[in-house]
This record gives sequence, C-alpha cells and structure tokens, in this order.
Amino acid sequence: MTLFRATVLDTPDDPFAGGSLRADADAGLLVRDGLVVDRGGFAAMAARYPADEVVDLRDGVLLPGFVDTHVHFPQVRAIGGLGMPLLQWLERCALPEEARLADRTYAEAVAEEFVSGLVQAGTTSALVFGSHFAPAVDVLFAEAAGAGLRITAGLVVSDRLLREELLTTPQRAYDEGLALARRWHRVGRTRYAVTPRFSLSCGDGLLDACRSLQADVDGAWFTSHVNENAQEIATVARLFDGCGYVDTYDRHGLVGRRSVLAHNVHPTDAELRCLAERGAGVAHCPTSNAALGSGLFPLRRHLACGVRVALGSDVGAGTGFSLFKEGLQAYFVQQLLGDEGVPLSAAHLLHLATSAGAEVLGLGDEVGDLGTGRRFDAVLVRPATGSTLDVALRHAADDEQALAKVFALGSTADVAAVWVDGRPLLTRGPDGAPSGTTGDRSGRVAVPG
Ligand SMILES: [Zn+2]
Repeated sequence: MTLFRATVLDTPDDPFAGGSLRADADAGLLVRDGLVVDRGGFAAMAARYPADEVVDLRDGVLLPGFVDTHVHFPQVRAIGGLGMPLLQWLERCALPEEARLADRTYAEAVAEEFVSGLVQAGTTSALVFGSHFAPAVDVLFAEAAGAGLRITAGLVVSDRLLREELLTTPQRAYDEGLALARRWHRVGRTRYAVTPRFSLSCGDGLLDACRSLQADVDGAWFTSHVNENAQEIATVARLFDGCGYVDTYDRHGLVGRRSVLAHNVHPTDAELRCLAERGAGVAHCPTSNAALGSGLFPLRRHLACGVRVALGSDVGAGTGFSLFKEGLQAYFVQQLLGDEGVPLSAAHLLHLATSAGAEVLGLGDEVGDLGTGRRFDAVLVRPATGSTLDVALRHAADDEQALAKVFALGSTADVAAVWVDGRPLLTRGPDGAPSGTTGDRSGRVAVPG
C-alpha cells in the first residue's frame, strides 16, 4: 500500500447544491490496488500505517483527475481553426482531417497524439467522439487502454450531408458498432458509446439503428451534439419537419440516463424539461462555443430545470485539452451573462471539471473526488518555480483563492503528475522532464528504479 501525502482539494459535495470546497493542507491518502482505502490528516495516517511507503507530493496541489465529457479524437490536428461558425468550420477544418483517418497508419499517429494530449492535461476520464472509420476507433481504444485512461467512445455515424467518404448505412453502422462494442465495451476501463454525429447528418433510419445498437449492448452509452448553432438548429428543424432538436433523438429512445449531449447553447424550456426528466447529461464546451461564436451557455436555465451539466473541451473546435481553460471560460461566460448568469466560484469550476463529469458519465461511485472508496485518479499541479502561478500560489490567502489562481493561470505545463487507479501515467520533474516522485517518510524525493 502507498500513503500519498499532499495538499488535497476536491468537491465531494456539489457546490451547486450548497456544498463547498474540501481542502486538506496536509492529507494522507492510503491507496491499495488503485483504491483510496483510508484518508485523514497525514500525521494520524502515518501513525496508523507506519509500514507503508510514503509518496510526498507537498511541492504541489493534488486534485482529482479531470473528466472531459466531450472531446473529438480525430480533431487534435484541427485545433486553432479560428474565424468560422460551426458548419463552415466543419467543412473546412474538421471534416477534411476526419477523412484522413481512413488511413490506419495516419489514425495511429493521431491516436498517440490525442491520448498524450489528454494525459498531459490531467484528464483521466473522457467521453470521446471517435472516428467515422471502424479501424480508427479500434486504434483509439487500443491506444487509450494502453495508456490506462478511463475512456468511453464509439464509432461516429452519419448518412447524409457530409463528404461521401464519411457516410455509412444503418445496417453497416449497427454491424460495425456491435463488432467494436464486443471488442471494447466493459473491457478494462473502456466502454462503448453509440455516436451519431448530429441529427443534421443522420436520418431517422440511422438513428433507429443507433437505438437498436444501444439496446443490444448492455450498458452502452449514447452521445451526440445538440442545439449548438442557430443555422444548424434551423436546418435540423427543416430536415425533421419542425421537430425540436432534442426530440429528434428522444423519439428514437436515445435520451436517457446514459446519454450525454454536447453544447445545448440554445435549448427551449421544453427541451430542458425533457433532458431533466430523462436524466440526460449536457457537456458544456465553453472555449468551443466562444471560438465558433455559437453563443453563451444558459447554465442558470439548465440548473433551474435540474439538468446535469459537466465540462467538455470539444477539441478541436475547443482550444485545447486543458480543463483549467474550459473552467475559466465557463466562468467568463457566466460573468458576461450578467443577471442571467450564474456566479461561479473556484469550487464550482473544480466540481464541473471533476465530480460533475464523473456523475454525468455514470462514474460518480468510482472517481470525481479523492475520498475513501474512490479510485486514485489524481492530478498533481506543480507550477515551475518562479512562474506567475507559482508566485500566485505562494501568496494565496486561502485554499479557495489558491484554487481560483490555479484556474486563472494553470495550463497543461503545470500538470506534474497524473494517476489512474493509482498507477502513474505521467510524472514530470521540476524542470519539466519526466521523472519519479517516490520519496521516503522524510519527504526526500528519489527516482524509482
Ligand atoms: Zn463536438
């Protein structure tokens, strides 16, 4: 067993429901087989477990691993395509790149870059939009499983209005999805998600096939896009004879507890009520919504209706993998909404980036905070000495203020170590180079053999 010693910040109690930040300046977390089996003040824990190895992380701040509820595997090289609204951006930036994943060798290179991007950002769990090509989805699952990430993903399907090579048929979508699910669903930390791209590119027959697949794969997830952009919404309404966007999925039985819909920037009240009744989650993607000019996310209306919300990076329309940036942008948007916005504290941002995501992905009993009984999925934030974040943290008045500074100034460069199930996925020395952080009880740092 290992005793992790650290300043630990997490949000086991939902700040939107009256909870507040849990901050332990010198905590001890006892981890056995990847599970936090006991937690308390370090001195008491060290006395209780004198024989266990101590990993001293007091040179940083330990947070739960981040949960990204909406991110696109094939778009890592498309990040930074600025200056276009959604449908133009898809046509010019995203879809040409997605078409290249027909080549398995190309897909392998992108999968490596994508998984590495998640790990470096401290993302330990993610709901991933896969590729339109089944072999590329296999490649993604293999890469993510090899790295040790907690990934839910699937084959993206469309049967109209996109470039020809990205289209499929209902039967092929079902068959290829089932084959992928048989290989990867509930294997280790991976799960399968039925993934129609969006109603705009999916006819009723294909959405029916998606429903059949979800019904035939026990515990499979459903994810797609909804209500992102005004022109997109108008086109969907025209294609479905005036049907509401959420209803295009709901009438096929796709909206439920294991559903996550991305964006939802422009929902009607009826749609919010439907999402709440079904227990579906919404992935709020703040930098993407800003970069594409999609709109300001109505968080207050979601919360008022009881819709569950978490964060998504939406790479590559989003501007990177870091959930620090998504949290900060979420905060900006609510400020800009004035009276219609929700004033967000640092604890809200941490909750949205960790425990809310875990809950939306049905992982709330396993991850999302660092309490006893949770898997040890964690991120060590340790800025470079003398960096602005380092200065800010040294002068923070309290833990909530320190956390606010982490969200204001933090980036992937400040992520010094990442664990999933107690296993290190990334460790960086103070100079940014990979190294170990195993130390003895005195806090001495040694590189493990
Ligand atoms: Zn997306």
